[in-house]
Amino acid sequence: MKTFDVPIAYRSPLISAIKKQRKEADRMKKDFTPTLLDFGPVRVYLARHFGFCYGVENAIDIAFRTVVENEGKRIFLLSEMIHNPQVNADLLAAGVRFLQDTKGNPIVPFEDLTSDDIVLIPAFGTTLEIDKRLNAIGIRTEQYNTTCPFVEKVWNRSEGIAQKGYSIIIHGKPKHEETRATFSHAAKDAPSVVVKDMQQTLELAKYITGEKPASEFYTEFKGQFSEGFDVERDLQRIGVVNQTTMLASDTQAIADYLRDVMIARYGLTDSDVRTRFADTRDTLCYATNDNQTAVQGMLQTPADLAIVVGGYNSSNTSHLVELCEEALPTYYINEESKLLNRNTVHHYNFHNGTEHITENYLPEKEPLTVLITSGASCPDAVVEGVIRRLVSFFPGSKSIEDVATQFA
Ligand code: SF4
Repeated sequence: MKTFDVPIAYRSPLISAIKKQRKEADRMKKDFTPTLLDFGPVRVYLARHFGFCYGVENAIDIAFRTVVENEGKRIFLLSEMIHNPQVNADLLAAGVRFLQDTKGNPIVPFEDLTSDDIVLIPAFGTTLEIDKRLNAIGIRTEQYNTTCPFVEKVWNRSEGIAQKGYSIIIHGKPKHEETRATFSHAAKDAPSVVVKDMQQTLELAKYITGEKPASEFYTEFKGQFSEGFDVERDLQRIGVVNQTTMLASDTQAIADYLRDVMIARYGLTDSDVRTRFADTRDTLCYATNDNQTAVQGMLQTPADLAIVVGGYNSSNTSHLVELCEEALPTYYINEESKLLNRNTVHHYNFHNGTEHITENYLPEKEPLTVLITSGASCPDAVVEGVIRRLVSFFPGSKSIEDVATQFA
């Protein structure tokens, strides 16, 4: 795989050494067992796959290179580069400014832009409408486009489905930048609608079966369907694509359910279901699959708690938390300082979007076993910081440097 020039401050020598050793021992990525870091009183199991993915490294490389190569020019990011607070703060410190917040609300009006400005398109991609507006100002977006190729792959897949005459159902978070971009690209080719979860899919299915009057659709799915969408006409032939970072099991369940609904509604069989339901695999990216499978592998190890590190608006990180939460107490933090001390952690609840303080999060036990992973936009240096801080609460632990020798 291509390598990228990512600031050294985001790397962790310890984690790079672990990843290198694991990769060399398992080139085909078949082993999803975690890596043990035994500090004595605390034992850390690190997931087999976590941290910066291809798309994130690509975006960071392009963004920092753009800053270096364009001194004196105004450089804007359409919105957050990736969903990681440290990376975004570093870009702001380098003089880059955001044009919009993550929900698409303007921070700098487009009217203030000139053709001399540079606008970086983030890894999630952007909508055709925004691309057009920037081009109309004279800003050439191709050169500074960090859209991940795995997101573009979803756009290509939806185009293929559209060409065969299917409408497109997008399983994704309706307000997430990537889903907004995918929706825009899909809607240019075919009637499109976004479902955020199984609950919404069950409701959508009622319009396919006729259980709900068509007129209710337009209120119920407001803001989630393409212009001119005709619920009676446009749900007769469908295909499903996904935001690349959804939970694999959710995505599979939604596609399977819609397929069954089409079979029942139109009296189809396995052999002719394709006439109504496009035969596609999910469009989750490799990083989402690897990181979720690695968490499942990590959860086979008996442990006392899990710590998941990543930005609080990171979709892929929240799904890793979701998987861990099903098995054991899990704390979602975005930096080491959230481990306030041996007794107290300041962590995020992504279900309701609030931060909490929890006391006695580290059970009185020796050795204590902690599972750790991170999202695809989290620097390994942040994960190492979390490990260092955790270990510092256990007097008599081996040092990180001592434990690192086994991976040298
Ligand atoms: S999570 Fe997947 S789609 Fe998103 S930037 Fe990374 S590789 Fe690309």
